Amino acid sequence: MKVKQFILGGIETNTYVVYDDDKCIVIDPPFDNFDTVERFVDQMNLQPVAVVLTHGHFDHCGGAQKLASKYNVDIWAHPNDWHLAQSAEFNLWRMPCNNAYPTKQLTEDVTQIQGFDVQVLHTPGHTEGSVCLILGDVMFAGDTLFCRSVGRTDLADSDPQKMVQSLAKLKAIKQDYVVYSGHGVSTVLSDEQKNNPYLKLL
Ligand SMILES: [Zn+2]
Repeated sequence: MKVKQFILGGIETNTYVVYDDDKCIVIDPPFDNFDTVERFVDQMNLQPVAVVLTHGHFDHCGGAQKLASKYNVDIWAHPNDWHLAQSAEFNLWRMPCNNAYPTKQLTEDVTQIQGFDVQVLHTPGHTEGSVCLILGDVMFAGDTLFCRSVGRTDLADSDPQKMVQSLAKLKAIKQDYVVYSGHGVSTVLSDEQKNNPYLKLL
C-alpha cells in the first residue's frame, strides 16, 4: 500500500490517494485542483474504488461528488456528518464548494473498503462524525489530530468534551503509526502521545 499526498484547495487541505498496484481510494478531495488528483490517478493507471471522507467539512469533501460520479464509486463518511457534506456550500467561509452525498456509512464496524483493510476510529469533537482511519501502518487523522495541535472545537458542529474523549482514545493506542492529518505536515503517533500539548495533559 502506498500513499500520495496532495495539498489542495482554498485552505490547503491534505488529500491522500491510497493505492496498490491497480486500485486506489481517495481521501478528502476538496473543490478545486481536482484535475491534480485525476491526472495522478490516470498516470499511475489506477482505478479509484472509493472516495472516503474523514469528516463532512466543505474543505474535505468539495471534490468528492465529482470524483464519485466520474468513477462511479461510493462516498464513504460517518453518518453523523452526512448532513454537513450535503450542505457544504453553506460553509462559514463562503468559499466555492460542491455538496457531496455519501452513500456508505463509515462506522467502526467497517473493516474493508473495496479490498483495502481499514480500521475506523470514531473520534467526534471537531465534528460529530469525525473519524480517524488506519490503513496498514498509517493513520489518517482528518482534523482530529495535527502535528503538535488538534482540530478546532469552536465551530457549530464541534463538541470540546467529546474531543477530549477522542484524544484520550488516540493516546491509549499502543501501536505506532505515521499520522497523516487533514492539514499541515505528517507526524508519528507515539511522538504526539508524548509531545503534543493537548495529549500530554490527558
Ligand atoms: Zn474540518
